[in-house]
Amino acid sequence: MAKDKKLVEAITSMEEDFAKWYTDVVKKAELIDYTSVKGCMVIKPAGYAIWENIQHELDRRFKETGVENVYLPMFIPESLLQKEKDHVEGFAPEVAWVTHGGLEPLQERLCVRPTSETLFCDFYAKDIHSHRDLPKVYNQWCSVVRWEKTTRPFLRSREFLWQEGHTAHATAEEAEERTKQMLNLYADFCEETLAIPVVRGQKTDKEKFAGAEATYTIESLMHDGKALQSGTSHNFGDGFAKAFGIQFADKDNTLKYVHQTSWGMTTRMIGAIIMVHGDNSGLVLPPRIAPTQVMVIPIQQKKDGVLDKAFEVKDTLAKAGLRVKVDDSDKSPGWKFSEQEMRGVPIRIELGPKDIEAGQAVIVRRDTREKTVAAFDEIADKAAEILETMQTDMLERAREHRDTHTYIAHNIEEMKQIADEKPGFIKAMWCGCQECEDAMKEEVGVTSRCIPFAQEEISGVCVHCGKPAKHMVYWGKAY
Ligand SMILES: [Zn+2]
Repeated sequence: MAKDKKLVEAITSMEEDFAKWYTDVVKKAELIDYTSVKGCMVIKPAGYAIWENIQHELDRRFKETGVENVYLPMFIPESLLQKEKDHVEGFAPEVAWVTHGGLEPLQERLCVRPTSETLFCDFYAKDIHSHRDLPKVYNQWCSVVRWEKTTRPFLRSREFLWQEGHTAHATAEEAEERTKQMLNLYADFCEETLAIPVVRGQKTDKEKFAGAEATYTIESLMHDGKALQSGTSHNFGDGFAKAFGIQFADKDNTLKYVHQTSWGMTTRMIGAIIMVHGDNSGLVLPPRIAPTQVMVIPIQQKKDGVLDKAFEVKDTLAKAGLRVKVDDSDKSPGWKFSEQEMRGVPIRIELGPKDIEAGQAVIVRRDTREKTVAAFDEIADKAAEILETMQTDMLERAREHRDTHTYIAHNIEEMKQIADEKPGFIKAMWCGCQECEDAMKEEVGVTSRCIPFAQEEISGVCVHCGKPAKHMVYWGKAY
């Protein structure tokens, strides 16, 4: 038993040190490894398989709304990046540059894409001529590079994987509709697939994307009470179109500028899954995103018939559409349990000679450790049912955690006290001016997370300056 305990003991408890717990889990669950490239990581099979499932599910949802995938180069000529003033100012501090091609210095340096608005604009300027060419609803799956000073696995790394959608439309209304549509798609994906509840809203001007007219965001709350921006969707209006000359002949034969949007979700969501659902035994994966949903663990597997039965159960479950594996390694059952728990496999099925004799096996839920005895002839149905229940319970638990860690501040003193003592979201009124927003960061240590679409009137005045309030805002400390 002493040996069986080792795996769990190898991770710091989250109450003791949440940041340490997080990095312990990503390592011990074998999601990533560090590399000799500073600030970059190897995403190992267990981590990459989660990303593949995120990709698959998001891509399916995108395509249902008419999105088509494309691929653009990873290099952006400096002159192209310079074309939109706000955009270049926003990204310049974290851009990586290519200055040489082989041994020759380049005439114009190239940046490694931090995001691809400028390349899409350059492409659209050549590709869009008529209203018949619209809308363009393109997306690319790729990696981008941002030269971050401090990095953390999945949450902030110098190179990360993402998708970036870039669309062009004939009218402002259509662009706005697409911006909101994609935000809602992200929100539904987070809640339905990742079991992560989100707050939908708009970023303040200070926090919006460089070059955007409006940025919409979904914000989620991690177990430690810090917020995580989980997906954003931007409406650019015709600002980029004017900078890049993207015009089309409309039905009335006049030349018009297109209206554009972009939207993205990244490997950061793997970090969100860990920090929303994980516990002191490791990762807990929501069944719908888990690469392996069921681990069959044979007990006394050397005894006659045990392994055969384990594989038979596996086949039955696989036929029912579940993602299932058998752990037939020569490790002890206790060690296998710890490993399955560390990796967050949603359920395990334990089965030994006595179970086989009784015609049944034991199903154990990863999140609650609840055990269910199931007869072999109903085991697939039972497992599927338990996975569904677990998915729903995980969302509800995360929602309850978020709601009980969302506070209301009526004035700045109250806000300071909450920020110091109770990690979580703080709802407070705001006048809309940046001075007050800056002051919240200085004096309270929180940033505006979003102006939620679902507004509430807590009071009529800004918590900071006392002038008439324009919005109720979610504030918090964020990753
Ligand atoms: Zn104010």
